[in-house]
Amino acid sequence: MTTQVVLASRNPGKAEELRRILIESGLPVELLGAEAFSDLPDIPETGATFTDNSKIKSEAVARHTGLIAIADDSGLAVDALNGMPGVLSARWAGKAASNVRNLELVLEQVADVPPERRGAAFCCVATAARVEPTGEVSFLVSEADVRGQLLREPRGTGGFGYDPIFQPDGYDITTAEMSSQAKDAISHRGQALTSLAAQLAAWVG
Ligand code: IMP
Repeated sequence: MTTQVVLASRNPGKAEELRRILIESGLPVELLGAEAFSDLPDIPETGATFTDNSKIKSEAVARHTGLIAIADDSGLAVDALNGMPGVLSARWAGKAASNVRNLELVLEQVADVPPERRGAAFCCVATAARVEPTGEVSFLVSEADVRGQLLREPRGTGGFGYDPIFQPDGYDITTAEMSSQAKDAISHRGQALTSLAAQLAAWVG
């Protein structure tokens, strides 16, 4: 029997990646997007960590829909900025700031940082939430990082967010210059979701 699972993300770039990676995992699930629920409330990301925020999102959507909900919280952690923008990655240049403006602000902030200190990581915590008959919520949690270097100029048109300035270690191209499949194979979200899907098999098998 196919179980319905909701992807709790309204970020189109992320939702597309979540969907692609979960389809690739071959789980026997029917994936519904957040847009399938027009009355889904806005979920403020008030947590201090990726794990807190990911759980806040998956729990809210699981409670609202009664279905298993999958969320991720992710971001860019820049060494020279003490791990920022971190959980603030999506709104680094302000609440309504575009991806491009966020990226430009990070580039400005590290403009004087020399090559040997331009390390950064993309981090992701993926969670699945399910409301139990008792009303308690159970979680599956999976976390992954990918390390790389920040470039000085954006390169590439693929991906989303900070992809054009992030060059993963061991590569001479940015994640915005990779094919979607190549990015998924190494990315923080690809790794976290693939391992979450393996855990999810116990819930939907
Ligand atoms: P969230 O919706 O709060 O998880 O925001 C994640 C934010 O982190 C995105 O809006 C991007 O700015 C950034 N981010 C997370 N993952 C990626 C990625 O794979 N590529 C580029 N930027 C990312």
